[in-house]
Amino acid sequence: MPGVGDLTGCGGALGNWGGSGTWSEDAGLTNVQNPGQFVSNVLVVGSPGAANPAEALDYFNALKYLMRDPGMAAIIRRLQDSDTIYEVYFIHDGNDAYLSSTHSVFWDPKSSFLTKEGGCQSAALGLGHELAHADNLWGGFLVKVKIGAGDYENQEEKRVIVGAEAKAAATLGEPRRYDHIYGEARRDPNSTSRTCRP
Ligand SMILES: [Zn+2]
Repeated sequence: MPGVGDLTGCGGALGNWGGSGTWSEDAGLTNVQNPGQFVSNVLVVGSPGAANPAEALDYFNALKYLMRDPGMAAIIRRLQDSDTIYEVYFIHDGNDAYLSSTHSVFWDPKSSFLTKEGGCQSAALGLGHELAHADNLWGGFLVKVKIGAGDYENQEEKRVIVGAEAKAAATLGEPRRYDHIYGEARRDPNSTSRTCRP
């Protein structure tokens, strides 16, 4: 298990990801679809399993969708323009997370999210949430600050949920949420659909 102190688990329980499984960067993923401006050598697509073209499409479609929001577009561009290598690992248990010590995003491209209020957020918005964590100059520091965070659990979750996530939700016509405790991961056919089936 990676250092839990800087692991920002965002989809519920952190699960059993061991952090040392085999995976491989697949430069060929950039050829799956014309990636245009969304892919650079900085934001690397990784996968703990075999490279899956369908998931790569989910990833590129999610980025394209998120970039309709100016805030998310700025976040994605900052990450791509950064000297830091950010890795996106595909997972399949809905436990999206960001590990600041290794700049690793863990993202389930088929995992939508049912909010406490009953709204359904897309998996793409979940990716945007994790990228917003990555776009934090303070690293994992705010994760440790619980004071005043209330149902957002810590100041880093509050910063992302009431900030970039809420703004993107408004732009994209998705529901927002008001906590980081309630709600549950659901399944969807692709990264931008919002059916939230059990
Ligand atoms: Zn989070």
